[in-house]
Amino acid sequence: MATWYVWTMDDIGAGGADMVEAMQRICRFLEKYGLRMTLFVIPKPSGRPMGEDWVNALREVHRAGHDLQLHGLTHKDCFEFGPPNWPATDIEPSFLEEFERRREELLPRYTLPNLRGHIEEGLGIFRERLGVEPMVFRAPCGAISKPMFEALRQVGIRYESSMYISGVGYEHLPHRSGVIAQKWVNDIPHTPFRWYSDVVEVPILNEYTWRGAWQREQEFLAVAKEDVKRIAQESKVAVLLTHTHGVGDNLEYAFRLMDTLIEDVRAKNLGDFATLGELVANGELERAVEAVGPDILSI
Ligand SMILES: [Zn+2]
Repeated sequence: MATWYVWTMDDIGAGGADMVEAMQRICRFLEKYGLRMTLFVIPKPSGRPMGEDWVNALREVHRAGHDLQLHGLTHKDCFEFGPPNWPATDIEPSFLEEFERRREELLPRYTLPNLRGHIEEGLGIFRERLGVEPMVFRAPCGAISKPMFEALRQVGIRYESSMYISGVGYEHLPHRSGVIAQKWVNDIPHTPFRWYSDVVEVPILNEYTWRGAWQREQEFLAVAKEDVKRIAQESKVAVLLTHTHGVGDNLEYAFRLMDTLIEDVRAKNLGDFATLGELVANGELERAVEAVGPDILSI
């Protein structure tokens, strides 16, 4: 069974010139292999209009074939579309206390009209400023809720990608275990699966380029190769995660990591690479759905 591997990058649209450059350099790097990135774009970063530098850079990479999809609306905090979720809570344990402290303020966010309004505002910005119609959503910090899925269905977005198969990519952080070894969850399917409101959840395999990961390079390259090999036995689609600020932390490491995985997928005939937009358009993402997701969301 050949697997489609997808490189994705989050938090596009936020940050200054160094983040724009990190995105551009990663896109150019992939182009050398004939590959394209799926970029998850924040349409109204921290509640402000996206800068002209981002808009121009995004129009250019989109013309070069890179895929632009929707990453929330403002990403102002980590609770935009639902309560805090793992593994964001591994990266930042204080999210749990913050959510409890702000509970009365935050819970009213998670209504269908409110979340639908947020998504529609994001879609409007995509149309106007980027000339793009997104088909996939990724909730900021993986914070999701049942009304969010219903809102996505109502606006015609049938794919969401924010649950994780592995959170080992954050175990190098000072407050974590420090153990960089393969560890996958079993509470969600490892394939794309049909979930709330019939939206398809496309789980993230792992992230290997979070800030500081370069200090454990050999261990991260090893676990990344193991993950990429194992997922080929289990799923027809595998989503790999990066962030602008993660790859920007050490671009040379990010290039080596990506180079290693691309060579490995090709040498071992595990499959090939595509963007999420391509896999939606050609029906491969729909054909990769192999399960129904468990009812695990409380809100
Ligand atoms: Zn994000």
